[in-house]
Amino acid sequence: MFIKKGIKLKFAISLLVIFTVGSTTIINLYLSTHALRVNLTENHLENNFRYATKISISTNDLLNNMQQNLSTLATIIGNKEFTQSDLDDWKSGSSGYYNSLFTTDENGVVQLISPQALPSNQGSVKPGTKITTNLMKQALNNKEPFISDPYLAQTGNLVVLISHPIFDQHGNYKGVVDGTIYLESNNSLREILNSHELKSQSSVIVVDRLGSIIYHPDPSRINESIADHPLVQNVMGGKNGAAQIINSRGIEYFSGYAYVEETGWGIIAQTPTAVMEEPLHNLTKDMIIRSLPLLLIILLLSGLFANHLSQPITRLARFSEKAIQNNQQNTSIEKLDIKSSIYEVRQLYQHILEHFQLLNKQISYDGLTGLANRRAFDTQMNYLIKQKMSFSLLMLDIDHFKKVNDVYGHLVGDDVLRFLALLMKEASRGEDLCYRYGGEEFAFLLKGKNLDDAIAMAERLRNKVAETPSPTGKPIHISIGISCYQNEDQLPEVIIKRADSALYHSKNTGRNKTTVFEYMKEDLKELS
Ligand code: GH3
Ligand code: MG
Ligand code: MG
Repeated sequence: MFIKKGIKLKFAISLLVIFTVGSTTIINLYLSTHALRVNLTENHLENNFRYATKISISTNDLLNNMQQNLSTLATIIGNKEFTQSDLDDWKSGSSGYYNSLFTTDENGVVQLISPQALPSNQGSVKPGTKITTNLMKQALNNKEPFISDPYLAQTGNLVVLISHPIFDQHGNYKGVVDGTIYLESNNSLREILNSHELKSQSSVIVVDRLGSIIYHPDPSRINESIADHPLVQNVMGGKNGAAQIINSRGIEYFSGYAYVEETGWGIIAQTPTAVMEEPLHNLTKDMIIRSLPLLLIILLLSGLFANHLSQPITRLARFSEKAIQNNQQNTSIEKLDIKSSIYEVRQLYQHILEHFQLLNKQISYDGLTGLANRRAFDTQMNYLIKQKMSFSLLMLDIDHFKKVNDVYGHLVGDDVLRFLALLMKEASRGEDLCYRYGGEEFAFLLKGKNLDDAIAMAERLRNKVAETPSPTGKPIHISIGISCYQNEDQLPEVIIKRADSALYHSKNTGRNKTTVFEYMKEDLKELS
């Protein structure tokens, strides 16, 4: 029977182990990287939020301090004579608050300005110049302290103006004192925005109350409006928070944002989400390197275990494959001696063992008479010859058996065969072995016995048969041929042939008699 070869059990178990170990590793890797991703995301959002808040507070404080500083200055100017050098001293003592400091009278005519030689002011604003901008008009009319929105000065600089009214000791309005902050030049505000506590990839953006960029690490983006971005709208609406966003250029960021009460500005601290790539990559690499030796050990142990598990079944399968292919005689399954701790394997082995023993028995015995059959006879002959053990072979044939069948029918014929088998068993002694050779022919193997013993046995049986009524009601007769093993005999056929010719000698010379081949050769002596 052709059996399609499937995959081997060992291979299947190994595959299962590899799959299990592999998928567990991948799940572990996924869970670890996921946990790290969540952790990093939370950290970056938290850090950026804190940083934006910190800058917002610092900016508020700075602007408050600057207003306070201008207020003090306005009081001094209103109450006593204030010179250019006083203003220069004040400016240089104001810790880099302003890029320029100037006073005007109540009509907006510049009185003092520091520094006088400010490059951006040269030629445009100097003592005596009347400033007519709307912002100045607003400052003069309001007569109140205020901080302007960032505006583009004539010089192209983005400027914030801090203004404070001047009153003399009688409360008469004398003009304003203004400090300018150039958003793109060095000053205290820029120092706050520029301080890099965040990692290198992180950056800070400041938008004014209308959503235009007033501070950006990339100067070319200053003045660009990003008011449409949801995050900018949040911060313009006075909210503080953090979010993972995609910016106006399509890059993903962790962003923290905070509102600056004093000016309505929004501070956005942001880090590209790509910063996670390196730690994630490192973690993956690290996990693989660390777990590789362990994985290899697990796989090796699993392989050994798979081998241990599958070996008994593999041996059983090989055994039965060979047994069927070679049509082995006397297949000795006991030699397999399978030991396994697996319940199913033990059961399977036990059942196969029993089946083989039963099968061996069935193929070695004749179903009709219960005697060992031709197959068993051949095996035994081969064995005796191989062992060079002396033995005698008796071949028996029922005389005129055909007639029994013809006269009494086949069923009676069968009974006669059983009857003869019984008498043979009764006649056998010790290690004598009796066989049904085929049809109505039988054989005896008498181990370790000489010719005389064999002749005695043959005659005893033949006479017993001839005297005992068979199932036909009358006795039957048998003819016998004897030969014994010679040292030079190599094949069973040689001895069988000799016993056979002795048997046919008995047949040809009247039947119901015993002939010994060895004597027949000398003088064709017949025994009767
Ligand atoms: P001879 O004395 O020359 O041996 O003659 P014989 O009739 O015994 O020999 P022959 O070979 O002519 O016939 C043997 C018969 O044995 C033929 C066959 O039908 C019969 N026979 C063989 N096996 C069985 C069996 O199992 N049962 C029965 N009932 N008859 C069998
Ligand atoms: Mg015959
Ligand atoms: Mg016969």
